[in-house]
Amino acid sequence: MSLNAESTAFRSALEVIRAVEPRVADAIGAELADQRESLKLIASENYASPATLLTMGNWFSDKYAEGTVGRRFYAGCQNVDTVEALAAEHARELFGAAHAYVQPHSGIDANLVAFWAILADRVESPALKKAQVRQVNDLTEADWFALRRELGNQRMLGMSLDAGGHLTHGFRPNISGKMFDQRSYGTDPATGLIDYDRVAEAAREFKPLILVAGYSAYPRKVNFRIMREIADSVGATFMVDMAHFAGLVAGKVFTGDFDPVPHAHIVTTTTHKSLRGPRGGMVLCGPELADQVDRGCPMVLGGPLPHVMAAKAVALAEARRPDFADYAQRIVDNAQALAEGLLRRGTTLVTGGTDNHLVLLDVSGYGLTGRQAEQALLDSGIVTNRNAVPQDRNGAWYTSGIRIGTPALTSRGLGTAEMDVTAELIHTVLSQTTPGANADGTPSKAKYVLDPAVADKISKQATDLLAGFPLYPTITLS
Ligand SMILES: *Cc1c(COP(=O)(O)O)cnc(C)c1O
Repeated sequence: MSLNAESTAFRSALEVIRAVEPRVADAIGAELADQRESLKLIASENYASPATLLTMGNWFSDKYAEGTVGRRFYAGCQNVDTVEALAAEHARELFGAAHAYVQPHSGIDANLVAFWAILADRVESPALKKAQVRQVNDLTEADWFALRRELGNQRMLGMSLDAGGHLTHGFRPNISGKMFDQRSYGTDPATGLIDYDRVAEAAREFKPLILVAGYSAYPRKVNFRIMREIADSVGATFMVDMAHFAGLVAGKVFTGDFDPVPHAHIVTTTTHKSLRGPRGGMVLCGPELADQVDRGCPMVLGGPLPHVMAAKAVALAEARRPDFADYAQRIVDNAQALAEGLLRRGTTLVTGGTDNHLVLLDVSGYGLTGRQAEQALLDSGIVTNRNAVPQDRNGAWYTSGIRIGTPALTSRGLGTAEMDVTAELIHTVLSQTTPGANADGTPSKAKYVLDPAVADKISKQATDLLAGFPLYPTITLS
C-alpha cells in the first residue's frame, strides 16, 4: 500500500464529511492530531490499522442482519454473510476455537451473550426438558414463573474489583451483579498474586454456576488449566474474559496453561484492546454452547454491525500474520522494561512487576492518590488512568493506583529504550507532585500541586520521545 493511497482515502473522506458538517470533519482531524501528540499509556487502548479503520465507513452500516450466516431474518444479506463468515473463520483459526461469534458490539455485550448462553444451557434447557416442551412459549404460566426465578438466582464467582476484576463479572452497579448472586476471589495480600487454593476453597463453599477468570488490572498471567480444574471440581462452567490480553493470546505469548481457549468452556473478548481491531466484542466456545451463543442477537444484542464485523475480519487477518506475534512479544517486553525502569527509580508496583501488557503503580509511596497522579501525569502529556489497588484505602473513585499499558505505544514502534525514558518521565512527575488542600485546610484527595514549568518540560520531553515514532506515518491530512 502506497503512502498516497492511505492519505488520499482519509483526505477524501474528510472532504466529503466537511461538506455536510465541517465541525465533525474538524473534530476527526483534531482527534488524530491529539493522538499523535499524547504518550498514550492507557492499557485498554490501541491504534487500529488504516485498513481496519477504513473498513468501517461504508454501506455495510445500512444493513440489518439479524440471525446468523446463511440464516437471516432479513433478505439480501449475502455480502454480510461473506464478511461475518470471514471474521468468524479468522477468529477460529487464530485462537484455535471450535466456534466464534463475532456479532457482539463490545466486551460488555460479549459477556452478556456468554452469561445468557450459559444460563440457557444449564438452567433453561433442563427446565424445558423437564416440562417436556420445546421452547419457552410452550411453558405453562406457573412453569415460566418458576424458570424466571431460577434464571435470576444463579451464582457467579469472579475476581474482585480491587484485585483487577471487571465490573461485568457480577458487580452490583452492572447488570451482571443484578442477575447473579456473586462472590469474588481476591489476591494474596503478601504477593498480590491469585492464590488458587483460596479460589478452590471459595468455589467449594459457594458452588457457583459460573467461574469467571479474566481482568482489566492484574499484571500477571493466570493459570487457566488450574482454574478449569477448580470449575470442574464443583460443576461450574468456566468462562474467561480475555478482553485485555486477547492480543497476547493471538500472538502466542500466552500459551499452554496460560492460553484460555483450550481450557475454558467459553471465552469472551473485546477486539479493540491488545488485539488492535475495531471497537467490538467476540465470543469463542466449543460445540456444546455454540447454538446458544449464536442466539446473542436478539437475546441481548441489538442488530449486528456488519461494517464492524467486516473490520473485525480485516483486523483478525492482520493478527494471523507472523509479524503480529512479534508485536505481541514486544508489548510484553516493553511492559517489563517499563516496570524495571520504575522499580529502579523506587516506584512501588503491585505484584512487583508484570508478565503481561500492563503495570499497576501504587502511588501512595509518592504521597498521592490515583486521581492526583492521573491528573498530574495528564498535565505533563502522559495519558494513563487511575485504578484501585488491592485493599485500596482510597476507594474506587480516588484510588491509590495508576494503571499503565504498552499495546498502544508498541503499535507506534516504541521499544524498551523508550520505555526507560517513559519511566523516568513518570517518576519525575510523580515525585514533583504534592497533594493539595481543601478550602478548610484538610488534605484533598483530588487537588494537587505541580509546578507548571515541570509539567511543560515533561510534556516537551514526551513529544520529543514520540517524534521518532510517528503515528500513522503514511497518513498526512493536509
Ligand atoms: C474492557 C473490558 C470489558 C468491556 O469492554 P467494552 O468493549 O468496553 O464493553 C469487559 N471485560 C473486561 C475484562 C475488560 O477489560
